[in-house]
Amino acid sequence: MSSAQALHEPPHDCALCPRLHDFIAGWRGREPGWHNGPVPVFAPDAGDEEVRLLIVGLAPGLRGANRTGRPFTGDYAGDLLYDTLLRFGFASGRYAARPDDGLALVDTAIINAVRCVPPENKPVGAEINTCRTHFFTPALQRFANLQAVVTLGVIAHQSTVRALGGRVAAHPFSHGGRQDVAGLTLFSSYHCSRYNTNTGRLTEAMFAEVFAAVRDFLANSE
Ligand code: SF4
Repeated sequence: MSSAQALHEPPHDCALCPRLHDFIAGWRGREPGWHNGPVPVFAPDAGDEEVRLLIVGLAPGLRGANRTGRPFTGDYAGDLLYDTLLRFGFASGRYAARPDDGLALVDTAIINAVRCVPPENKPVGAEINTCRTHFFTPALQRFANLQAVVTLGVIAHQSTVRALGGRVAAHPFSHGGRQDVAGLTLFSSYHCSRYNTNTGRLTEAMFAEVFAAVRDFLANSE
């Protein structure tokens, strides 16, 4: 991460959400080798100006990004997401569930709507709003050439719409949905969590269809 990119990142001990700050502090004591802090944006080595697609997740998983420090890295959701990104050319290299696996993003960045791991994967409204105001909305300004956003799940979708100044009621979430907000095209998908795939709500084929649509959109936007 460059120093310019780091300017937009929350401090490692961000305390704007007391419940999440305390939750992480407890895990620092139990697992001192884990990242245990707000998870930074994962962006391409080539720089923010290369980013045409932004993927928005909900929040770090406890034993995934909260452990490794890279979005979606180290848990099931990352297996499915990075396999799909590699398949459609939005990533290169090999995903090995570690931040030093050499995997690189191509024209793509990944961010969580809430940067700190919440208990039971459930941030409350105030936490979603606080992180959006301080870190998500400013982060969107980093990417001058952004064209498309994939929102993973309802909360990520709604926070993205709000960050872009849109009305949630006018831009409802639906899996496979596509809509324009503030000059960007939003593609929405059920979150690629193990729960959603185990219950059959989301299949690998359904997830791939979303990224195939994004790839077509970007190809036709050049
Ligand atoms: S969720 Fe965001 S605003 Fe809240 S403590 Fe973490 S980094 Fe700070």
